[in-house]
Amino acid sequence: MFRYYYGFDIYYLVLILPAMLLGLWAQARVNSTFNRYSHVRCRQGYTGSQIARRILDANGLTDVRIEGIRGNLTDHYDPTARVVRLSDSVYDSPSIAAIGVAAHEVGHAIQHANSYAPLTIRNAIIPVTNIGSKLSIPLILLGVVMSFQPLVTVGIVAFSLMAVFQLITLPVEFNASSRALATLNGEHYLDEEEVYGARKVLSAAALTYVAALVMSLAQLMRLVALFGNRDRD
Ligand SMILES: [Zn+2]
Repeated sequence: MFRYYYGFDIYYLVLILPAMLLGLWAQARVNSTFNRYSHVRCRQGYTGSQIARRILDANGLTDVRIEGIRGNLTDHYDPTARVVRLSDSVYDSPSIAAIGVAAHEVGHAIQHANSYAPLTIRNAIIPVTNIGSKLSIPLILLGVVMSFQPLVTVGIVAFSLMAVFQLITLPVEFNASSRALATLNGEHYLDEEEVYGARKVLSAAALTYVAALVMSLAQLMRLVALFGNRDRD
């Protein structure tokens, strides 16, 4: 059975390969969209970090800090340290892409402050998801070797936790982006045309989370197809 999991099978062809292509396409799209709009300067001239500071302060989050971080598209909000970290191409850049990403990360800080339910659930299941993703394949293989199907089932359920995590990530990400665009538009940080560009950047970023979920579901379906109903044999 080992050779099936690590080898090439029909489920790899019809499930994993299409999901992989979707993931690569989504990644290429977010890179090209970000790159395009990182060369378009917004008319107001605020940088990513300035916009982040303004939106945080306007929401009473004066104690949430903003820091720079190395790398490309490494921007995130750290709920433990309560810090918005912005990458080099966002922190000091007055581009539409930078403004969009900065406002999105601040959206996560506002979700955190408001105890936005999907974010709370997502953070709560992270430890379980981590354990599940480490144990799932060893459990499945052990179950197969021992010909003990309940162990295989537990392994598959453990693997499915990753998909659950990625599913809950979607409303968190979509909500952070819609908050960001509403604020940028409502507070007139960006005009209509600029908001359109920021929306394209954030939509492209959101698609990578959809692609990650599709990949997990494809892997899960393949595991079920290969190991799920062996009692039938
Ligand atoms: Zn996000």
